[in-house]
Amino acid sequence: MRILVTGGAGFVGSNLCARLVQNKKDEIICLDDLSTGRLANIEPFMQLPNFTFLHRNVQEPLDIEVGQIYNAACQASPPAYQKSPTDTTKTCVLGILNMLELAKKYDATLLQFSTSEVYGEPLVHPQPETYRGNVNPIGIRSCYDEGKRCAESLCFDYAREFGVKIKVIRIFNTYGPNMDPKDGRVVSNFIMQALRGEDLTVYGDGTQTRSFQYIDDLVEGIWRMMNTSRSDFAGPVNLGNPGEFTMLELAEKVLRLTGSKSKLAFKPLPGDDPTRRKADIALAKKELQGWEPAVQLDEGLEKSIAYFKTLV
Ligand code: UDP
Repeated sequence: MRILVTGGAGFVGSNLCARLVQNKKDEIICLDDLSTGRLANIEPFMQLPNFTFLHRNVQEPLDIEVGQIYNAACQASPPAYQKSPTDTTKTCVLGILNMLELAKKYDATLLQFSTSEVYGEPLVHPQPETYRGNVNPIGIRSCYDEGKRCAESLCFDYAREFGVKIKVIRIFNTYGPNMDPKDGRVVSNFIMQALRGEDLTVYGDGTQTRSFQYIDDLVEGIWRMMNTSRSDFAGPVNLGNPGEFTMLELAEKVLRLTGSKSKLAFKPLPGDDPTRRKADIALAKKELQGWEPAVQLDEGLEKSIAYFKTLV
C-alpha cells in the first residue's frame, strides 16, 4: 500500500516513518516543508527503495493515489507555533482540508495528529476524551489549540458528510530521539542545558505539571489506531503517559541522570501555559488492544540523553 506521512521529517513523523519503512511491501511517501522538520531525521531512509521524500508544504493541495494518510504536519513546540501564528492556523486548517480531499478522492484512511492542547487550561483532571476543554480562543496559544480543534471538527464533518474514513488521536507531551534540540520544549531545553553546564530554565515556579510520553510508546499507539481491527473506531483517543510530573521534578531527574552541576534559573511563565495536564488513557487501553506506555520517565530520559549527547 502507498502511505503518506505529512510532517514526516519532524520528530514524531520521522519516528513513525522508521516504523513504516520496515514493511517492504508498503511505499512510504514523506511530505515535509522542512520548516521545523529536519533532513537529518530521515537521512537513514533516503536510499531505501520504499521511501520517497516530497519537499512540499501541506498547505498546497496534493494529488497522489494513497491508501493511508498520517497527517502530522504542523509546527508543534510553543515557540515554533507562536513564531508565525497565522501560518500555524493555516497549516492546521488548510493542511487537513487538503488531506481530507485526498482521502475522499482515493477512499484512503486518514489519521489526524491532534493534541492534548485541545483541552486548554483543563478544569477536569485527568483529561478524558469526553472533556470538551477550556481553551482561550484569542490567546497566544490559540493558533495551535483552535487550529487543531478546527481540524478535528473538519475530520468528523468529512466523515458524516462524505463518508471519509477518519481517525483522530490526541497526543500528550512526547519526547525522545529526533527532537530538535532548539525547538524550545522543556525536555530538550533541560537536557541540552544540563549537558552544556548551563542553567536549566524553569518557567514560572515550576509547579505546573505535564505527563511525558516516550516516542516509541506513541508510535505503537499510532500504529494500532491506524490498523485496529475495529475500523469504525474513529476516536478521538488520548495517547499519553499518565505519569504526572512537575517541571521541578523533571529538572531534578535530568540533573541526576546527566550528573550535571547546572543550577535552576527561574523565568516568567509564558501566557496561557496550562497549570496541570495528565492523560486519561482508559479509552486507548480498551480500543487499542490494551495499549499502554511501556517506557517510564527515567528510562526514556536516559535514552533521550544518549541522543542529545550526539548533538552537543
Ligand atoms: N518549560 C519550562 N522551561 C523551558 C521550557 C518549557 O519550564 O525551558 C515549561 C513550560 O512553561 C510548560 C512545560 O514546561 O509549563 C511544558 O512546556 P513545553 O513547551 O515542552 O510543552 P507544552 O506542554 O507547554 O506545549
